[in-house]
Amino acid sequence: MEGREYHRLLERQLKKFLPGYPAVSVEMQELLRAISNSYEHFDNDRVVMETAMRESSDELMAKKSALNALLDRQSQVLESLREAATSLFPDQASIVNEDLLRLADIVQEEIQKRHIAEARKEQSDQRLMDIIESLDLGMARYNLQGKLTHIEPRFAQLFGKSPGDMLGLSSSDFQRATVVSEEMKSASDFEFSATHRVFEAPLIGASDELWLLCTTAPLQDDSGEPNGGVIVVFDITQRKKLEREMREARKAAEAGLELRKSILANVSHELHTPVNAIVGMSALLSATALSEQQREYLKTMRFSSDSLLVLIDDLLDVSRIESGKVELEFIEFDVRDNFSQLTKGLSLRAEEKGLKFSWEIDTRVANRLRGDVHRLNQVLTNLISNAIKFTEAGNVQLAIGCVMSTENTQRVRFEVKDTGIGIAANRQAAIFQEFTQEDSSTTRKFGGTGLGLAISKKIVELMGGRLELISEKNSGSSFFFELDLELGSDQEQPVPVFNPDLHGARILLVEDNKVNQFLAKALLTSWKARVDISEDGADAVERVKTGDYDLVLMDLQMPVMDGFEATAVIRNELKSSIPIIGLSANALNDERERSLQIGMDDYVSKPFKPELLYGIIQSYLRKG
Ligand code: ADP
Repeated sequence: MEGREYHRLLERQLKKFLPGYPAVSVEMQELLRAISNSYEHFDNDRVVMETAMRESSDELMAKKSALNALLDRQSQVLESLREAATSLFPDQASIVNEDLLRLADIVQEEIQKRHIAEARKEQSDQRLMDIIESLDLGMARYNLQGKLTHIEPRFAQLFGKSPGDMLGLSSSDFQRATVVSEEMKSASDFEFSATHRVFEAPLIGASDELWLLCTTAPLQDDSGEPNGGVIVVFDITQRKKLEREMREARKAAEAGLELRKSILANVSHELHTPVNAIVGMSALLSATALSEQQREYLKTMRFSSDSLLVLIDDLLDVSRIESGKVELEFIEFDVRDNFSQLTKGLSLRAEEKGLKFSWEIDTRVANRLRGDVHRLNQVLTNLISNAIKFTEAGNVQLAIGCVMSTENTQRVRFEVKDTGIGIAANRQAAIFQEFTQEDSSTTRKFGGTGLGLAISKKIVELMGGRLELISEKNSGSSFFFELDLELGSDQEQPVPVFNPDLHGARILLVEDNKVNQFLAKALLTSWKARVDISEDGADAVERVKTGDYDLVLMDLQMPVMDGFEATAVIRNELKSSIPIIGLSANALNDERERSLQIGMDDYVSKPFKPELLYGIIQSYLRKG
């Protein structure tokens, strides 16, 4: 300690308060030294303390400014939250910080939820992709320019490529397969469109022909702007191939069916002529003198040939109806007279079986109606015959009612009812099909072919009605239908008197079939015409040359020279305008047109109604 003995504060106090200082005793000096040391220690401690204090205050300052910055940020966040909240809830005048803090909590919660949802979405996206893969669906995405931006492996695999190879391809880069013409109807162009579409496209795939069932849908980005689309495809090649095979098989089956039909039509047509001749001949035979036994034989023969003719007519009818060759006639008829004639024969048959037959007609049904009365009678005869056939006891009724009338038409209801064996519910639809009977015992017990109802149903439909059935097994049946028929004129039409007379007419009959020759000649001579016969067309040409005839009846199918050829020669080479009337038993082919084209004047199909043939011959003779 320089210049002074003790601590400077002790020195100052000694000088002020101790008289005689610095002269002090030795003991006193010892005491003062100890006091001065304490002062020194105190000084040192203070310096240490002051340094420590200064350091902690610096630290505090730094913490404080960090805290301030945090507070600043928080208040900024709060402020922007307040702004957002005010714009969201403009009605809320004062949004206090507490609310905002709560809001912040909520926002944080929402953010957390969103993270969870996003994670879930990713999971479910993956699951969806797994499903798409397991369903064997191929998927790809494309941008607004229609270029592929994302390709799932299955999509690429269909084309034998890897997804990387396909990036940037557009739909026109895919090759279209050439398909058979029937499939063209369902085929579409492969297209990455930004609209929703479902279509089938034929392409060339990994293993040649590839049919894809495609679905496209537009896609949007997060802000809802369209950004392209997605296409999901399913390989339907196998299905398409199967369809094609089935179509071909069906075509083959249909061709077979057509063939069957045409065989049926041709066979029945071929059978028709001879059976018709048997029927005609037995009619002529029955008019001759016969022994009792011969008459009995003839009766059986007539019965059998009549049934055969009915069957053949039915078969021909089926063929005609199926090929659309049945044309309805519109004839005015006397309603009550027609049905009383129709039922006469049938009621006899019913009575023979011990059944009661009755028919009734609503008084409102007009006396005269127009329609195809022959076809109507055919249907009713068939229904009534069936009713008699399938009824062992009880009665059969025909009821004709008027459903409604307009100024020009009447809707008439026809019903045939019996108390017979009835038809099981599960067979009711089937019996309207060709060659179908209720069960296999029917033929054994009742005979029949199963054609009648099929024909009747089709005829009724042709006439604009529907043949229906109500029946129960063992409780009888009721077949019924309604037809719109035109009203006829009120006045009774005079029945034309048929009084044929061809006296003086010279007719050349060109016909190769002996039976037909016989029948036609018998008819014509009974009308007092003079008839010569040519066996073929060539002979007919020679005879026409003689100029001895007023009219030619020309069969179409003949050996040597057929009717068409003969007519052509007569018209073109002989330059003769003699009336030629074609005769044909061909019920199916459109021969009428061909006959007229080649130069015939008219055409009559066999078997012909005498009145019709007479009328035609008369009209040409008169012209001549
Ligand atoms: P077919 O009488 O020649 O057998 P149909 O086509 O006229 O042919 O009739 C077909 C089948 O319908 C008959 O075999 C019979 O089983 C049934 N059927 C038709 N009419 C009646 C009826 N009135 N009562 C009971 N069954 C009927």
